[in-house]
Amino acid sequence: MSAADAVTDSLQNLRARFIDVREGKPADYIPQLALADPDAFGLALVSMDGHRYSAGEAETPFTLQSVSKPFVYALALSLLGLDEVSRWVGAEPSGEAFNAISLEPDTGRPANAMVNAGAIVTTALIPDTPDEPAFDRILRCLSHFAGRELDVDEEVFSSESMTGDRNRALAYLIRSTGTMPVDPVLAVDRYFRQCAIRVTAVDLATMAATLAYGGVNPVTGKQVVSAEVAARVLAVMATCGMYDGSGEWLLRVGLPAKSGVSGGLIAVGPARFGVATYSPPLDATGGSVRGHAALETLSQRYGLHLMLNP
Ligand code: GLU
Repeated sequence: MSAADAVTDSLQNLRARFIDVREGKPADYIPQLALADPDAFGLALVSMDGHRYSAGEAETPFTLQSVSKPFVYALALSLLGLDEVSRWVGAEPSGEAFNAISLEPDTGRPANAMVNAGAIVTTALIPDTPDEPAFDRILRCLSHFAGRELDVDEEVFSSESMTGDRNRALAYLIRSTGTMPVDPVLAVDRYFRQCAIRVTAVDLATMAATLAYGGVNPVTGKQVVSAEVAARVLAVMATCGMYDGSGEWLLRVGLPAKSGVSGGLIAVGPARFGVATYSPPLDATGGSVRGHAALETLSQRYGLHLMLNP
């Protein structure tokens, strides 16, 4: 078997091993997400030579949700630099759920850019330009990460917009601490739109591989962000990307990762690969049950834990 066939074979084996897991259920606090097929299970891996491997429903579209957060953080770091971004949003694990009121007591900043509070601020930091509104810049940047033109699922956007009172409340609370750079209504609207960007598992693996490859998309060859920005984003993903499950994830899987409530999950092997899964049923921390199991098994089987094999 060629090396390429062996990778595809591994993804197919993981799918076969975990497809019958019935735990968890798709998110329903955003009504449109509850319509997802609980049986869909796609896996994709992109290597540093730009090869794309996949198994199952790897071309099924779904919305980015929180998997958007590291990429918008990357854009903010690229445009504003670490010192300016850090004035607004911290880099400490919150140890709390994704939608927690997690603001630092002394500064009022959200703890990190991976929880909702921090992601709403990060999104709000992206400036409009005379030629391009901020959201279009976000969409263009994320499209470069994916290597194709992405779009917004308007139905998921409206569904979250109609039910997103907790995120709205968070945005107002942040403004009350003086750490919200724009109007909260605008910030949350932009954040909901970013969460509703449509991708596939293959897109996600390409986006993850771009972070792995020092900010260069290995499929298109385009430098999307600098190597320094990519490294910083990976550091925050490693410590905060899996919310209150981040410590356990780093312990067991040992790779920077980010989950999203639509069932997407990415993990990054720096300088080696980007991997992604899509399976909507979620566990209590808002992560994909099958995705979690598959990536933990992949890491253990191939010794991918960064502390073991840097
Ligand atoms: N749009 C979702 C929210 O803000 C994202 C949460 C997630 O994917 O973890 O509730």
